[in-house]
Amino acid sequence: MILPIIRYGHPVLRQKGAEIKEMTGAIRRLAQDMLETMQAARGVGLAAQQIGRALQLTVIDVRGTDRPSQMFVGVTEMAVEPMMPIVLINPRITRREGEEKGSEGCLSFPGISLEVARAGTIHVAAMGLDGAPLQFIATGLLSRAIQHELDHLNGVLFIDRVRPEQRKLLEAELRKLEKETRAALRKKRG
Ligand code: ZN
Repeated sequence: MILPIIRYGHPVLRQKGAEIKEMTGAIRRLAQDMLETMQAARGVGLAAQQIGRALQLTVIDVRGTDRPSQMFVGVTEMAVEPMMPIVLINPRITRREGEEKGSEGCLSFPGISLEVARAGTIHVAAMGLDGAPLQFIATGLLSRAIQHELDHLNGVLFIDRVRPEQRKLLEAELRKLEKETRAALRKKRG
């Protein structure tokens, strides 16, 4: 089921996600809905907050872009495409190496693209949809997408990661988006 995507201005985007203690059918269905929602929106990643649930759950899919990614399990490089999409439950970044600037968009900020500095290489520990532990190293777009989504899981947004001058240039656009989101919320609540 394709779910509506929450936009900037909704308070859930600022909530830290609760840890998922048990893999249930409801969590599996939610992950499936998030995958469908991300694919329909042609996104590279989607966090649970973006569909209105403050949970430690995110989905990622870096296929369909020309921006390179690498993935390693231990010292073995994996082909990235067959590993996609990835569902990450209670993910953590256990190590960060280097720094890279790159452009990012966000499904909760339609039309906004920003240059964001992120770690180049990250070591990720999470749980997969089957409940099994998942550990890997990511570079490139995959690394960037995971860092962006993990921020969401902690209530942090990409606009928080840009320089103050850059943020200032966005203020008017952000206020407009926030106003639209709040108006839509009020309408929904009647
Ligand atoms: Zn985002």
